[in-house]
Amino acid sequence: AGSAAAVFLAFDGPPFPATAIVIALITFVTVDHIIFAPVMSVATGAGAWQVALRNWPSKIICYLGELAAVLLVVEVLAAGAEPLLLLIVPLVVLCMHLWQSRSVRTREERESWQRLAKATDELNAVDLTRVLYSAATRAAQIFSAAEAEIDLAARTVRATESQILADGPFRPTAERPVDETTVDLVAQDGSVRVGVLRLRFGGTVRLTEVEQYKLRTFASALCTAIRNAQAYAELARIAAENAHAAAHDPLTGLANRRRLYEQADRLFRATTHSGLFALLLIDLNHFKEVNDTLGHAAGDEVLRQVASRLRDAAAPGDLVARLGGDEFAVLLTGLPTPALAGHRATGMLASLDAGIDVEGMQLTVEAAGGIALAAGTGSVEELMRRADIAMYQAKRAGEQTVVYAHARDTADLERLMLTGELRRAVAEHEFAVDFQPIVDLGTGEVVAAEALARWHHPEQGNLNPVQFLETVERSGQLPAFADAVLEQSLIARQTWREAGFDLPVAVNVSPRSLLDPKFPGAVLARLARHEVPPDRLVLELTETLTVSQLDVVERTLAELRDAGVRLAIDDFGTGVSSLSVLSRIPVHQLKIASEFVAGVETSAEAAAVVRTTVDLARNLHLTVVAEGVESEPQRRALWALGCLAGQGHLFARPYSAARFLGLLQRGSGGRPGVLAATLHEEGSVVRLPARRLPDLPA
Ligand code: C2E
Ligand code: CA
Ligand code: CA
Repeated sequence: AGSAAAVFLAFDGPPFPATAIVIALITFVTVDHIIFAPVMSVATGAGAWQVALRNWPSKIICYLGELAAVLLVVEVLAAGAEPLLLLIVPLVVLCMHLWQSRSVRTREERESWQRLAKATDELNAVDLTRVLYSAATRAAQIFSAAEAEIDLAARTVRATESQILADGPFRPTAERPVDETTVDLVAQDGSVRVGVLRLRFGGTVRLTEVEQYKLRTFASALCTAIRNAQAYAELARIAAENAHAAAHDPLTGLANRRRLYEQADRLFRATTHSGLFALLLIDLNHFKEVNDTLGHAAGDEVLRQVASRLRDAAAPGDLVARLGGDEFAVLLTGLPTPALAGHRATGMLASLDAGIDVEGMQLTVEAAGGIALAAGTGSVEELMRRADIAMYQAKRAGEQTVVYAHARDTADLERLMLTGELRRAVAEHEFAVDFQPIVDLGTGEVVAAEALARWHHPEQGNLNPVQFLETVERSGQLPAFADAVLEQSLIARQTWREAGFDLPVAVNVSPRSLLDPKFPGAVLARLARHEVPPDRLVLELTETLTVSQLDVVERTLAELRDAGVRLAIDDFGTGVSSLSVLSRIPVHQLKIASEFVAGVETSAEAAAVVRTTVDLARNLHLTVVAEGVESEPQRRALWALGCLAGQGHLFARPYSAARFLGLLQRGSGGRPGVLAATLHEEGSVVRLPARRLPDLPA
């Protein structure tokens, strides 16, 4: 149009080259840029204005060319040449325009492919969000769309070329806008479709074939990128899952042994750790019984609840782990002083005090905790060893927690825990039985004998039951051990009987044995083999809450009782459920725990326990034995309260079967089978109606 105006001026008016040139230029620029470009811009909805600006160089060349042509024509006309020559002008102008627009298109095309390449390059990210955000903004930009939306069914991302508008699991309105172009996000070969890409233009736009081709290229690159990112996320998830599984206990979700060791290792290596740290090892008491009687599902539930209580009780920074079975461990970290470890441990164990509700039953969980301070150990293994020793000490002492002390570390306790040793001990008959007489408190006459196990350890000498019982109970050796004790007890009884002392023998029974369905049969078979009447055997049962309420125990005891075996409750009065046990398990005898006997003449409470026990026993027609009688005043006080039998150092310590027989034969005051002077002689007899002595032949 500019060129035409110039020609028109040159043709119609007087030939003023300078004026013509200026007018031509102004017209040209005005028409081309002020009118044409904005009109195009509005019409296409695209940035034609910017496109025009971007293509300045080729435009200038074009203008200059056109200008040169105009000048040439003007000169030619001025020289009076043939006006038809003016026809050259439109031709030149047309050529220049064609050239210019072609070069602009080529360039734009190149640039647009470059942008596409760059955009698809950017899609090579492992993070899906980054892929989606980059793809949405780039799509809007490359295809000059007002908005681009990537819809993956589960997630939709919407963006303009400069910002993300939305990201979430929403579905946009059911009615799709009319100005929308949609392309499936499919793999190059069309095999997989991950979603759709939608472009909104804010006006009706028809994409050219090339543009559609570009869009499909972009969509397939995006599809690949999305699949890569998803695969990567899946891999990362699996890796994290594996890492979690490798470091955690699947049942409780707590850290496992490996993770605990790693964490402790890290603390040991850390040159600057805030405060000290310690290891608390926790072992549940009687857990196996829960498992055996209530089933594994209940056992698992107990473990889960214990885990959650410990987790809640732990301080921030502590690590709670399950080491396996019913063993838990806590790394107590950031301790300002060593003394605080014990305090924190007590708090952790106290969290287990409240009953645990399992399948509608209230179970009490008892646990023992061993604490070892990291200082001076140097390694996780040593820390673990010390905590383990402390834990066993706590169990034996019946305490909730014990802090490891070097002075008490025998180091060989660890060896004692080896099941191999126990197996050897049983095979090599290292377990022996000592016997302590049970005496008629009034006459001093021996009325029975209690069998007490000993371990004649080849290296450690004689070990008391408290030192090894727990280990035996935890190993698979309990039936063999119980069998050995019973066998020796029956053999000893036989030798005494042959010497003229026909005494019942009392044997202690682990609660765990009562859960063994083979136990009653094994006991009765042994009695039969030795031809011992069942009523000459007393089984002393230590009651525990968990055990006492279980059906299996009741069945086992009923079988033994029905066969005539006598049952006694050991340490009566120390368990919480003494009375409830009595109501469910019909026993013949109650043994008053030595702690009450020790206080019988000094403490009103202890005396009251003794008196009520005696009353209860009388009402239920049971016999009573006082344990741990160490002095004459105790003996007399017990007698005065109506307790007729007792055992303790006052009469005799536990002795081997042979020494026990010697003791019986020697007697006291020239009376065989009697170990103390009669109370009658001292004139302080309290005569009671319906005297019942323990298990004297009727
Ligand atoms: P227990 O049944 O209460 O046995 C009484 C314990 O008190 C015995 O300790 C005995 O030596 C001790 N004792 C006896 N008279 C006195 C006294 O006058 N003063 C003091 N302070 N103590 C006295 P021991 O032999 O160490 O047995 C400890 C526990 O080990 C027993 O307590 C019993 O529960 C258990 N036990 C012993 N032998 C066996 C066994 O063969 N099988 C099972 N399952 N447990 C056993
Ligand atoms: Ca006993
Ligand atoms: Ca006892």
